[in-house]
Amino acid sequence: MQIDAHAHQISTSTQIVVGVHTLGIHPWELTLPFDRTEFDQKWAELIKRTDGVYAIGECGLDRVHENIATIEDQKYVLMKHFEEAAKRKIPLILHSVRTYSDVLEILKKIKFQQPVLLHAYGGNDHEMHELLKYPVYFSYGARLFNTDKRLLITPIDKLLLETGDQLDYTIADIYKKASESLGMDLDKLENILEKNFLTFFDKLDDISAADFIHDLNTRKTN
Ligand SMILES: [Zn+2]
Repeated sequence: MQIDAHAHQISTSTQIVVGVHTLGIHPWELTLPFDRTEFDQKWAELIKRTDGVYAIGECGLDRVHENIATIEDQKYVLMKHFEEAAKRKIPLILHSVRTYSDVLEILKKIKFQQPVLLHAYGGNDHEMHELLKYPVYFSYGARLFNTDKRLLITPIDKLLLETGDQLDYTIADIYKKASESLGMDLDKLENILEKNFLTFFDKLDDISAADFIHDLNTRKTN
């Protein structure tokens, strides 16, 4: 089975669709003027939703995207997401652009127990080495067609694949590309990533893997 760990578009594959299977506020949505009190009200409303929420996110930090809240305000928002994920004992899906040292600082400080998915990972080798001290997973998507250097240094048991927010490549294209880069049979890669995916959602221990996949696939059509 090919699993799409992070998607913004609903497709026929088994996938985690942002906003359907997850709950959070993307840093790009933190437009100006940003007001913490207003955010707190919005957040209080948002977290009332519990049904079908398997992960918190996509949330995170971005030092490149323009006209959004300051990095301090972004951190304030991100901490709310970490708190909520810890409370629910579910994973967190993280957007990080030129902020891996900020993320490391936070992970060191909060001792978060749930897994974190660093989607479309774009950091360097040293940052990956440091990040691997925490329960993090790395997912890659369309950017593999430009460079696979990060994929090749990612521990295979911490790897996931994604379509993300683009429409040029399907999850099947991305699996094929990753299997070529890794020099690994597609079947073998699918089996490993399926195991990784289910380990990532380990905290859903009240339901079986099969029921979880079934639930994912039925919920997105509702
Ligand atoms: Zn995304």
